[in-house]
Formats: sequence, structure tokens, C-alpha cells
Amino acid sequence: MTTRRRPAGRVPNPAKLLDELDSPEWLERSQGPRSGSGGAGTGGGSAPVNVRLLQHIANCDNAVSGFIARAREAAGDESAPMPADRSSAYQEAMRRAAELGVDWQTYMAAMAWRNSVESELYMGNTMVVRREPCPECRTVGLVWVSSISRASCINRHCAAGTEDGAPRSWTVAQLAVARERRVPLKAAR
Ligand SMILES: [Zn+2]
Repeated sequence: MTTRRRPAGRVPNPAKLLDELDSPEWLERSQGPRSGSGGAGTGGGSAPVNVRLLQHIANCDNAVSGFIARAREAAGDESAPMPADRSSAYQEAMRRAAELGVDWQTYMAAMAWRNSVESELYMGNTMVVRREPCPECRTVGLVWVSSISRASCINRHCAAGTEDGAPRSWTVAQLAVARERRVPLKAAR
């Protein structure tokens, strides 16, 4: 139950390791002649502390960089742009996901939808939100209120449930997450 075996203090923050993938040492190392498996002979100086871990991350790099690329895209019109370096971008995406109360996979899927809807809205097609149900009462027919950049629920009973009796309204990001949560997971593989 409890994970006992922890490599005591030796493994740095995984996000930090992402940055090491951009370090000159690593680039040089990974571009150098690939002397297959287990070849001894890399006696010399520059071996980074966590070579094996870094190698593992480099192997996963497609997934990681894909995530970061999409996180940057998802940042879209967000007031704060995504940070340039990998670890910060990664952490920022995680933070935004946590803010919406979802894991990053859900966040990424949700943000893809959000991006497409926001482009529609940008082009003036506010009908796109009409197809979405209110996350609270499930009534379809949200109305886009551009002055507050939110989709507002038209159901009076829904509004009656709020503290001040005002209609509930939702950001596109919130709608995206609500939508993603009710989409059944597609079977992987
Ligand atoms: Zn509602």
C-alpha cells in the first residue's frame, strides 16, 4: 500500500528533467554515435546525474512534447501566454487543468473542443453554444453573452437555484470540461 522504496532524494523534479532535454549536454549526448546497448566505454566526464531517467523521458518525449505543444495551443487566448520552457509549460498546463478540476488528459481533450468553439465564436457564430446543455440543469440552448464572454442558461428554474437568482453562465473552458466528462471514454487500442 505505501510505496516504501523511494530513491532517496536522488530523483529531481520530473518537470525539471524536461528542461534537461534541451540542455547542450543532452543534445550532444543524444545526437552522438549511438553505440548500442550496454557498451561500456563512456567513461568520461559529462554524464548527467540521471542519465537513465533522462533516457526514459527522451523515449517518452513524443508524448511529452505533444502534451506541451497542445498545452500551448490550448493556452490560446488566455491572458497569460504559456511559458517557453518545457517544465514551466508543463506545470502551467497542469495548473490550469487542476483549476478546472480535471486531470490533464481530460483537460487536453476538452481544450481541443474549446479551441474549435472559440474560433467559431470569434467568427461570430454564437450558435455553437446553443447545442450544449447547461452543465448544471442540462437544458440545451445556452445563449452566448459576448459582453461577459460566457454562455448563459435560459432555464428560469436553473437560475432560481442560484444565490441571487441570476442565470448561471459558463466559460467555454467550463463547457468544454463538462462536455468531456459526459463523453464516454472511447475504448483505447
Ligand atoms: Zn441551467
